[in-house]
Amino acid sequence: MRHRPLVSNPGSAEHSAHVPPTEHPLLPSCNGAPTTGSMIVQVLGCSGSIAAGCRTTSFLLDDDVLIDAGTGVGDMPLDALARVEHILISHSHLDHILAIGLLADSVMRERSAADRGPIQVHALPETIAALRTHIFNGVIWPDFTRLPSADKPMLALVPIAVGEVLEIGGKRIEVLDAAHTVPACGFALDGGSAGWWVYTGDTGPNPKLWERLATMRVAHLVIETAFGDDERQLARISRHLCPAALGHELAHLAGSIDVHITHIKPGERAAVMAEIGRLGSQHKIRALEIGDVMRFVDEPKRAYG
Ligand SMILES: [Zn+2]
Ligand SMILES: [Zn+2]
Repeated sequence: MRHRPLVSNPGSAEHSAHVPPTEHPLLPSCNGAPTTGSMIVQVLGCSGSIAAGCRTTSFLLDDDVLIDAGTGVGDMPLDALARVEHILISHSHLDHILAIGLLADSVMRERSAADRGPIQVHALPETIAALRTHIFNGVIWPDFTRLPSADKPMLALVPIAVGEVLEIGGKRIEVLDAAHTVPACGFALDGGSAGWWVYTGDTGPNPKLWERLATMRVAHLVIETAFGDDERQLARISRHLCPAALGHELAHLAGSIDVHITHIKPGERAAVMAEIGRLGSQHKIRALEIGDVMRFVDEPKRAYG
């Protein structure tokens, strides 16, 4: 497993490194209960759209699982791209899926030469249908579920369901409900005694999410805030959050959790974070940054207490 970031901060004003990357060793609980293993989550992209230094949503879990495949994937070196075995997709919108087909194209020669099986793309059935109809249709992009050959393709599209717990590469990942304009989900990574890393995906207000999270020990919550309060109507009809809505949502989450804001549009980060700062939330809220690294450390012998 890799223990150093694959990508560095591209250094725009939007994502300049005034705040050091998150390095939160998630300590095990005091009872030293066994964990499901160490994990590392790297932020490849966390912007609502593109501009210099801004990349759309993608996270790299260890070195073989992508969670969403936005433009951030394009900063990975070719050898790192070739190690990806699974891609989890939250929904069909372009900012979350556009690197799937490009990645398949980039790694086809190496994977074929090594006779490796297809990259598993895990998504809701409606998302898979959208990918087949609108992306891998031979018009927008070649059908990599049948290339380079139908019996040895680059991609396999694997349906998932909300509430399902996936066992992927030794990791447990639960599919969470999301409320968006298209069928959508979020993902929760089980860090064992270190707690859960939760990514909401794109979502508007969603009571079901908070019902589920109330039963989990959430260590890190990555939640979207796509619009500022001046665009709250747009947020409502596009089923995203604005700071005021975020405040209502976070009030459902007990304790004082590390909350990381994602999906802010380029150029709006300072204004949105200022509005969030005025919420007076009990949680520890910061803006997510490209290059952030969150580690889940499996060291039971170092348990405190
Ligand atoms: Zn979306
Ligand atoms: Zn999005």
